[in-house]
Amino acid sequence: MLSSVEPRDLRMAGPIFRYLRLLTVIIRSARQSGAMATFALALALAPAIAEKAPVTVLASHIENTAGSTRLVFDITGPVDANAWPMNDPARMIVDLPDVAFGIEPSDGHVVGHVDGHLVGSTLVRAFRFGQFAPGRARIVIDLKAPARVVRVASETAASGARLIIELAPTSTARFVADAQAASAVSHVRYSVIDPLTTGGETHSTETPVVMIDPGHGGVDQGAVAQNGIEEKTIVLAFARALREKIEAGGRLRVVLTRDDDVFLPLDERVALARRANAALFVSIHADTLAAPHVEGATIYTVSRAASDAEAARTAAQENRADQAAGLQTPKNSDEVGDILFDLARRETNAFSRQFALALASRWKEAGSLNKNPIRSAGFVVLKAHDMPSVLLELGYLSSAHDLSRLTSPAWRDQAAGKAAEAIEAFFAMSHPPKMLAAPAVSRPE
Ligand SMILES: [Zn+2]
Repeated sequence: MLSSVEPRDLRMAGPIFRYLRLLTVIIRSARQSGAMATFALALALAPAIAEKAPVTVLASHIENTAGSTRLVFDITGPVDANAWPMNDPARMIVDLPDVAFGIEPSDGHVVGHVDGHLVGSTLVRAFRFGQFAPGRARIVIDLKAPARVVRVASETAASGARLIIELAPTSTARFVADAQAASAVSHVRYSVIDPLTTGGETHSTETPVVMIDPGHGGVDQGAVAQNGIEEKTIVLAFARALREKIEAGGRLRVVLTRDDDVFLPLDERVALARRANAALFVSIHADTLAAPHVEGATIYTVSRAASDAEAARTAAQENRADQAAGLQTPKNSDEVGDILFDLARRETNAFSRQFALALASRWKEAGSLNKNPIRSAGFVVLKAHDMPSVLLELGYLSSAHDLSRLTSPAWRDQAAGKAAEAIEAFFAMSHPPKMLAAPAVSRPE
């Protein structure tokens, strides 16, 4: 007995509707990239682009049969897909080639009401999707119960193709064994393009580099506001605004870890900053909390013991970013006993805290600081021993006040201006390790 629940729009899927959906995708991506010329061109060339566009996911729905759950994606052409289980928490990872997603993040919330009926699955809690690495996309399915892959296939349909991921219940022991077997095969061979070698520009080595790190991206959306706005989008917009403000000063060079909606592992973010020989690392985030009245920005530095329970929770949450994208996280995170290493780290921490204080005092002028704005915890992304690093939580997506600020271009401009002032002041007043050409301390790997 097949009970099928389909989103309303899927039932209208015909050639004209498919064309309109594809046009919407092109327009949306052109808008997001801020390229109005591209936007205009997309409108003019849409029929031609529609022919050559990468495979696009147009709609999704879930089908429950007595023995299985099927996730069905309507796509514009067949794709090679590969699915494998991952434990802690239980997920199914679906690797795809370069596909575009024309569905909304909320389409991945499998449980909900459609036309008054409860939609759901005994196996699937939700799914997330997005770019995972250049040329690769990923769907991460959060499981409610242990499952095995019955079938992953894309088949041609009357209008384009369908990607079908069929899952069936299995025992916990079998799931764990399957996940272990899958983890023995590396699914994460990719390299991130080095922004320094792809820019084609040469810079004076005298100019200090500030690495701005917009959190999350691609398949990892970060926190999500009730209205569906995602952390990854808010922090990228802020990072770009901050780059503009800093570069306007002409004294510092800015590199972004990502300048697009792409997933980056936490380690890779630190590695990019090292390769850029960054003298300051600023990771940008926007958290969410169960308490909607809590608001304001918080600035974190790294520490082994968290300054408070809230800082520990935030670090644990942010450190799960790799897991959210379906990466295996290494068990030990860089606990090092080397004395030289610790000395360098202590010195670096002092600079990090000095910058955190400078940032808090400037940020206050732009509006909202959390009641306890300077905290510390074990953030993986702040672990560089020789590069002052802070993590700026811009505010809480769960606070109505913060959300209206975070989505306001005027506020963003003002707050980015204050952050840029703090960064300029930090370089004017202090001598971060990289600027002093400190004796090289080899980093134990
Ligand atoms: Zn975050």
